[in-house]
Amino acid sequence: MEPKIGAHVSISGGFVKVLDREEKLGGNCGQVFVHSPRVWSFGDLTDEEAEEFRKEYKNRGWGPILVHSNYLINLATPKPDLFKKSVETLKEELKRAGKLDMEYVVFHPGSHTGSGVEKGIQSIVQGLNMVKDTIPEDTKLLLENTAGKGTSLGKDAEQLEKMIEQSELTFEETGICLDTCHAFSAGYNIHNKEGLNKFIDDFDSRVGWENVKAIHLNDSKHPQGSEKDEHEHIGEGEIGEKGMKQIVNHPKIKEKPLVLETPVDKEKGYKENIEEVKKLLDR
Ligand SMILES: [Zn+2]
Ligand SMILES: [Zn+2]
Repeated sequence: MEPKIGAHVSISGGFVKVLDREEKLGGNCGQVFVHSPRVWSFGDLTDEEAEEFRKEYKNRGWGPILVHSNYLINLATPKPDLFKKSVETLKEELKRAGKLDMEYVVFHPGSHTGSGVEKGIQSIVQGLNMVKDTIPEDTKLLLENTAGKGTSLGKDAEQLEKMIEQSELTFEETGICLDTCHAFSAGYNIHNKEGLNKFIDDFDSRVGWENVKAIHLNDSKHPQGSEKDEHEHIGEGEIGEKGMKQIVNHPKIKEKPLVLETPVDKEKGYKENIEEVKKLLDR
């Protein structure tokens, strides 16, 4: 099976443009925001635009396309206003993903900002229950592991398992997206073979590896356990070329869609990073 590799791309000019944009980078899966990630409001998505996208997306025959949730959303917050806004925004994102036939909505569980881990997890569980009925039939809501910075929740399999297990959601509706930079920053030593296997076993035993639906493939600017969330070009960070080669060739990783969120700067963009991943893959 051809590996699935893609990148996070812009929706500017309309959703249908996403498809060409991805193919130009050498991608056959990908990710988008359905609205600006740092504002609450949404632009229009007409039925015509959605239909045009759905038709063309089906024609291309590749995917999946992930929707990455807005960064303002925080289901773990103790602030009622922010919680309410977060639930409403996540609902709208889920609706839009469904309207566009996009397979997954990925979100960061949130930060408890002082209320404590248990309260934070309870709040996330409540939020998950509130959006449950909005999850479209062919779309799953994926919880993403975080680097564990500050009071952010979801840095390991144990916390993510708790959120899902305590909620009313089943794996028909939900799943996990694993970010390699976040896992490494959160303390998993995935840059060596033994650590990578332990990481996979941890998620397999707690949530089931089959429920890990996508990988955010990123190198890390900061060392293992630093809890810092800053992505680096594939092979140029602290995970490094050797570590990345091990990761992308692991049979349990290789089978998942690999979506890059690597930097775009003067030297390199997504195209170069996708090429790098393809080079690292044993053929
Ligand atoms: Zn993310
Ligand atoms: Zn990140």
